[in-house]
Amino acid sequence: MTVKMAIPNKGRLNVRAVELVSKAGIGLGDSLERKLSVRVPDLDLEIFFVRAQDIPTFIASGAVDFGLTGQDLVAEAGYRLEKLLDLNFGQCRLAIAGPEYSPIVKNGVYPAGVRVATSYPRLTRRYFEEQGVAAEIVPVQGAAEIMPHLGVSDLISDLVATGDTLRMNRLQEIDTVMASEASVFASAAALADSVKQTAITEVVESIRAVMAAENRRYLMADVPKAELPEVEKILPGIGGPTVLEIAGHPDVVAVQAVIPTKDTYRVVNALKKIGGRGILTVAFDRLVE
Ligand code: AMP
Repeated sequence: MTVKMAIPNKGRLNVRAVELVSKAGIGLGDSLERKLSVRVPDLDLEIFFVRAQDIPTFIASGAVDFGLTGQDLVAEAGYRLEKLLDLNFGQCRLAIAGPEYSPIVKNGVYPAGVRVATSYPRLTRRYFEEQGVAAEIVPVQGAAEIMPHLGVSDLISDLVATGDTLRMNRLQEIDTVMASEASVFASAAALADSVKQTAITEVVESIRAVMAAENRRYLMADVPKAELPEVEKILPGIGGPTVLEIAGHPDVVAVQAVIPTKDTYRVVNALKKIGGRGILTVAFDRLVE
């Protein structure tokens, strides 16, 4: 049975999504731009390249079994999907913002009847309901930032990552409706099918292993045996370093460990100080924990 997966075909989530899936060992082939789908016969997988916005609907309707998209889009679509893995990219937040000169921004109080332009009407409506404010939601397809200046709305509810766009449009953030990042989602129906569930889990675990490897390095070094207690302090690793005897050198051992990339500088210098030699750090493709 072919299991179907959706990934964003363009936009902010596309490049990293394709990179993660490819690094996970799922061959997507060349010239992705023009392809709508790719069959991966040896894995019995079919990958569909579709708009990030459409992926929640495709998963919920069973058109595909699982997919990779933004949490904001799943929440806005209003489907109950199973979130299987956070992907640590595509971070943004749906935020309420208004013009710097607006009394709403100055007072921090939403008046009854406040008009809010957004391409996220469902989440925005729910937010104002929770605030107990009768807001008028003005649905727009994009460029929400301009709406207060056009007099179309008093406020906006829009995605913010760095805040640069808001600043450029002289808008000030008031509150966060929802924080979001890219994740892998599946339908409950797909997960209830044991064949599909196994295939989906394999893909998810492969992506997890790729992500775990990306910010780590494999370190090898020869160190004086007498310094082993010190080495264990320097190299917490995954369950401590592996220690190997070196033939013909009873006073020296080879140690191996996985370390966070950001610790490389500190660890290498610390090992040198206690007499470490032949220190080697290498990048690797996967870490299955
Ligand atoms: P796209 O419209 O295809 O570029 O994808 C939009 C999706 O990318 C959003 O729904 C978010 O999940 C994600 N995203 C991440 N950062 C941002 C951002 N700064 N602005 C808009 N969308 C973002």
